[in-house]
Amino acid sequence: MNEFALIERFFRRAPRDAAVRLGIGDDAAIVAPRPGYEIALSVDMLVEGRHFLAGTDPERLGHKALAVNLSDMAAMGATPRFALLAGALPASDAAWLDAFMRGFRALAERHATELVGGDTTRGPRNLCVTIVGEVPAGAAITRGGARPGDDVYVSGSLGDAALALAALDGRTTLDRDALDDARERLERPLPRVELGVRLRGVATAAIDVSDGLVGDLGHVIERSGAGAAIDVAALPTSRALAAKLHGSERALALQCALAGGDDYELCFCAPPDARATIARLASALVLPLTRIGAITTERALVVRDENGAPLRALPRGFDHFAP
Ligand code: ADP
Ligand code: MG
Repeated sequence: MNEFALIERFFRRAPRDAAVRLGIGDDAAIVAPRPGYEIALSVDMLVEGRHFLAGTDPERLGHKALAVNLSDMAAMGATPRFALLAGALPASDAAWLDAFMRGFRALAERHATELVGGDTTRGPRNLCVTIVGEVPAGAAITRGGARPGDDVYVSGSLGDAALALAALDGRTTLDRDALDDARERLERPLPRVELGVRLRGVATAAIDVSDGLVGDLGHVIERSGAGAAIDVAALPTSRALAAKLHGSERALALQCALAGGDDYELCFCAPPDARATIARLASALVLPLTRIGAITTERALVVRDENGAPLRALPRGFDHFAP
């Protein structure tokens, strides 16, 4: 199949969203912005051997390529609307593309996000998704709005994606069910889009936990010109990870919970008078929203152990160019 046949077969569809005036097939897509809204833009690249292993299930990869971008929209409180997909593929492999697009489209449909363009080229496998979202003017939730005294929350649970990687690398062992659950978190992260939207006007700052809590909360406090103190005892973790946290694999478990990437939960801040609102939101979304600490004035991140003593060395988050 040549490039244009691939585009016809796998990417071009009649637009469903009336805001898409012109979809795939021209030199650019044309979309109609909603009056009173601002546009949120983000792009994320997944590189084989770097972000995923060669041989990763293509359907899961299609899901994940979009999920990591939807997660960025969630972290801004933006509603995702449109996506562009640039792919380098080693070969024109119809079975692979079919599965990839199945994963991509299933998630896109769940979040009413429409594929409006992209680029297709031969090369080492690399998937790059650009996402376009919208947010009422002035309502985006940035990293920079946290204030001393705010509570710090995380959604869902932390560390399972990193735990799955550790198990797959042979650095730890998990029983079958725990491995399946953790692997699901690694390969099929669920972006917290609905949460992000509902946090507009409630959260003072937010970030998605893609590189590990310590690093990502570190970005929030740096941008906000503040500090934070959080408690290991408060961190929401799966049962499998909690067991390791209290056993002989504590170091690994701390690393997963504090610095494990790929969880795609939201870490957000809100003043204490929002506690009841956030509790109601957690019930409405059937999603745990756990208070893990508070924003402080001293410009540092303090992580307290179960006895309230600060951890001396904090595990580091992921950095592609770390020395
Ligand atoms: P151009 O030469 O202008 O870059 P292309 O031939 O690359 O155009 O693409 C033709 C149309 O197909 C464009 O509308 C483009 O957005 C779309 N397209 C190409 N590759 C993809 C892809 N991987 N996913 C979605 N749309 C794609
Ligand atoms: Mg092109």
